[in-house]
Amino acid sequence: MNVRVLGCSGAIRSGENAGEPGGTTALLVDEDIMIDAGTGVAVLTDDELARIDHVFLTHSHLDHIAYLPLMIDAVSDARDTPLTVHASRATLDILQAHIFNNLIWPDFTRIPSPDAPGVRFEALEVGECFALNGRTVTALPARHSVPSMGIAVSSAEACLAFSGDTTSNPDFWAAVCALPGLRYVIVETAYPDAQIALAHAAHHYCPRLIADDLRGMPMKAELLISHLKPPHGALILEELRAALPDVSLRALRAGEVLTL
Ligand SMILES: [Zn+2]
Ligand SMILES: [Zn+2]
Repeated sequence: MNVRVLGCSGAIRSGENAGEPGGTTALLVDEDIMIDAGTGVAVLTDDELARIDHVFLTHSHLDHIAYLPLMIDAVSDARDTPLTVHASRATLDILQAHIFNNLIWPDFTRIPSPDAPGVRFEALEVGECFALNGRTVTALPARHSVPSMGIAVSSAEACLAFSGDTTSNPDFWAAVCALPGLRYVIVETAYPDAQIALAHAAHHYCPRLIADDLRGMPMKAELLISHLKPPHGALILEELRAALPDVSLRALRAGEVLTL
């Protein structure tokens, strides 16, 4: 199983910084599964886009779904089966009410026709698994300003867990530490410690909050840090290394491929 990082930035870049360090959150698992659909999806070719059958969404925020409505439209001629979007019922209801409402974007759950739509929604709740050709996707607890979850993907050999957007969340780490074969944990850290008040208000992590959650946890996997707000990336990593001296960690890089 390969996990290709399409985008992992905490904000879009533009002008001379476009593409550095990639767009917002999107991970491609092998050729057919995507986790979140932020602006990082823009690096895919038309053929690669059309081969995606399943999209798992951590939550409804725009930096994680921006490409979803547009990609459904873009691949409609190349595909003869609907794209399946998996998310919590709460997130699916938000998408239906606020995106696929025939005002912001057409309701592709009913067009081109209700029998052969562009997209179908399938609810997946925290604690549930979805098995697909030797790979298993598991929904993990998250705590954010809207209904959210983390997502783990497992092959027969190894497992990668992704926090999605979250703030202090011991339940996520307890669930992660129980995953067999855990090799990588992609965890967001949006803010440096000086912005801890903002981290609390926006329901994101800063280094101090991760260190508090990890104290006493038997976490042996490598931490890959995502969702860094671009001007603070180096500082956030410095603070994480100081707060977690015994943990192997580094910034997740757009374009890299993790093999599991
Ligand atoms: Zn969010
Ligand atoms: Zn986000």
